[in-house]
Amino acid sequence: MADSPGQSTYRGRFAPSPTGPLHFGSLVAAVGSYLSARQARGEWLLRIEDLDTPREVPGSADSIIRTLATLGFEWTGSILRQSSRRDAYEAATQHLLNKGQAFLCSCTRSELQAAQAVAECLLVGDELRYPGWCRRGPRAPERKTAVRVIVPRGETAVTDLLQGRFTVDVSAEVGDFVIRRRDGLHAYQLAVVIDDAFQGITAVVRGADLLHSTPRQVILYRMLDLLVPDYAHLPVATDVNGIKLSKSAGAAAIDIARPTYEVWRALEFLRQAPPPELRRAGLATLWEWAIQHWQPKRLNGLRQATIRVGREDGLT
Ligand code: GLU
Repeated sequence: MADSPGQSTYRGRFAPSPTGPLHFGSLVAAVGSYLSARQARGEWLLRIEDLDTPREVPGSADSIIRTLATLGFEWTGSILRQSSRRDAYEAATQHLLNKGQAFLCSCTRSELQAAQAVAECLLVGDELRYPGWCRRGPRAPERKTAVRVIVPRGETAVTDLLQGRFTVDVSAEVGDFVIRRRDGLHAYQLAVVIDDAFQGITAVVRGADLLHSTPRQVILYRMLDLLVPDYAHLPVATDVNGIKLSKSAGAAAIDIARPTYEVWRALEFLRQAPPPELRRAGLATLWEWAIQHWQPKRLNGLRQATIRVGREDGLT
């Protein structure tokens, strides 16, 4: 569907959702994807995933962009906003419907939850496994419908550069998943595939919280005849209790008054052992060191790690 660039050009990206200011957990993903792209002498693109308008926090897209610029990130070309891409998502949705690889579904969440209570539908994480009720046509066609893809049976494998071989039986764990919601918004799983292909992304480097979604995305790449990118999933930053840092966790907010320190802290989290004296060097010096010394293999197999907040550095 999209033109794919020559495979010799590495193209990475960072794709934050504007649901709050940039926090440490996202910064780690930004730094990891940026260093991978810069070390490969490739390009690094920025995309704002403002698809889920109800969850968007006004002003946060601009604040994220400003923070990234202050921290010294440089991106190629203009910033893509998913809110401008609805036609492309809808075209892909129609394409899958026309090919019979997707169907209209009138099931509501409460119906699925009721079914879960009688174990027709399993709860995996916070996700209800879809039991396939509308595959042969919506059971209540007068209602608003979602669109789901028909998931092939069996396991889908991903070879992740850091996490190794990772498989999910999507049909057993998730079932036919939604690509367009009943409220008309296209789902993240579809949008991310369409946009990564459209932007010619060759390597997706992001947090391991998205590892479990990756086989769903691979299924969509195959259905749409698109080239699957390389994947590398970085450890997710958690607090001392093992809870993933969220945008609301004040402790993790980025202090843009101390950009060098924040990038240094992300490098330390990413097991790069940045020399302590670089905390007081200029940003350019720190980035230069980081690009030269980036060794993602130090993160092999690490899916989460605890963030150390302002200790032993005398700076907080
Ligand atoms: N927009 C997602 C987030 O902020 C990231 C999506 C991705 O990197 O694929 O968590």
